[in-house]
Amino acid sequence: MLVDSHCHLDFPDLINQEEAMLAAMAENGVTHALCAAVKLETLPGVLGVAERHPHIYASVGVHPDNAECEEPDEARLLELAAHPKVVAIGETGLDYYWHKDAPEWQRARFRTHIRAAKRCAKPLIIHTRDSAADTLRVMAEEEAGVAGGVMHCFTESLEVARASLELGFYISLSGIVSFKNAASLREVARYVPADRLLVETDSPYLAPVPFRGKTNQPAYVRHVAQAVADARGETLAHIAEITTTNFFRLFKDARP
Ligand SMILES: [Zn+2]
Ligand SMILES: [Zn+2]
Repeated sequence: MLVDSHCHLDFPDLINQEEAMLAAMAENGVTHALCAAVKLETLPGVLGVAERHPHIYASVGVHPDNAECEEPDEARLLELAAHPKVVAIGETGLDYYWHKDAPEWQRARFRTHIRAAKRCAKPLIIHTRDSAADTLRVMAEEEAGVAGGVMHCFTESLEVARASLELGFYISLSGIVSFKNAASLREVARYVPADRLLVETDSPYLAPVPFRGKTNQPAYVRHVAQAVADARGETLAHIAEITTTNFFRLFKDARP
């Protein structure tokens, strides 16, 4: 039993082959998946796939990459998060890779998401890219640990992993951990305590080895988990067990 803690099932590459994708999940023992929202304009697609399938959950949020889109306030996020399949707030965070001027609107939007998550007692799905120091600073200032959550698709240093864990957050590893040049990320995989580790695909992006470069899908979280198991010198069964337990502990509104 495996859970894909972060994917984008509503994106055209995946939703256009919905049945095949769900069948592949079942064949690979991937019992549940969390479909993460990236903007409010496409939220109906996220909620739709979660409504159609009991084992698919959803989040509500606006990704920091999206500059031109509906800007939610706390009340709007809370209203949307009341949907019965919504188990998290996000994805949110900071991304200075695509926005190198480190715009203030990203930090303001991130703070709004953290405040909403604390008010509705749902965990945060946090995205950070080229912005770790500011991400951690905003998390600390807003006391994001009250809501808790996950640093998704983690690609940062051991230091950032340590700081995130100290704030009470989980670390989710993607297919990047299987890439040949990702030795430092495999070090992170060994470092994260067993009770704070999650796995994800972030599909349709970032397919793990041996599918690197192809369209990713939730079924492939099995290969992510295998790469994590190899890095830690543990079995796939063990990684599956701990990451599944962790998923349902963190996303407490998700019913197994
Ligand atoms: Zn992300
Ligand atoms: Zn994502």
